[in-house]
Amino acid sequence: MKLRTLEIALEGLEGFEKPDPKTEQYSTPPVLAARLLHHAHLLGDIGGRAVCDLGSGTGILALGAALLGAERVVGVELDPAAISAARRNAARLEAEVTFVRGDVRDAGLIEGLGRFDTVIMNPPFGAQDPHADRPFVDAALALAPVVYGIFNEGSIPFLETYTEGRAEIEFAIGGILSLKRTLPFHRRDLVEIEVEILRLRRRWA
Ligand code: SAH
Repeated sequence: MKLRTLEIALEGLEGFEKPDPKTEQYSTPPVLAARLLHHAHLLGDIGGRAVCDLGSGTGILALGAALLGAERVVGVELDPAAISAARRNAARLEAEVTFVRGDVRDAGLIEGLGRFDTVIMNPPFGAQDPHADRPFVDAALALAPVVYGIFNEGSIPFLETYTEGRAEIEFAIGGILSLKRTLPFHRRDLVEIEVEILRLRRRWA
């Protein structure tokens, strides 16, 4: 599937109805989601693979992975309303994804999900709750040997320190996250945040 075809498929999906600022709910824009997925797919990390989306929200990353021919896709999300929207999006795209309600900080839940080839995620950046991204990194590395995540620009040094040699961190692609004013604390109508898509490769078995 071409990049543009994937973007078009992901456009027009339902987003968060009432975004919760505390958990930094915003949907990844289709262009950015498609770039992450396309890049990961070209590196052999999506097609025919078992893929897990952490904090799957309304499902854009998980559904895109399914469209690219992932063998099995599971999304984990705290918010039941987002899960319902993600299921409607799956029906619309006729994509098969299992959305599980749960907290990525719940080690038992993560353990019970089994093993995956690839984790994809757009975790909270920790703007509201500092360090909210850390449990995502830990859960991701517990689930799969390869992780793609969207992070604030300049996150590599933090991730290197935080993962303490547990993972090799590679820059994949840069991008701009344009956020429309959806959350009350956004001061401007359109906020553009420079982000980077990173690929983490687990160092231990
Ligand atoms: N993956 C979606 C949503 C990104 S926003 C997309 O790319 O569009 C981050 C998501 O993580 C939100 O849906 C939020 O509800 C969820 N989230 C935040 N903390 C979480 C936690 N501890 N466990 C599970 N989901 C969480």
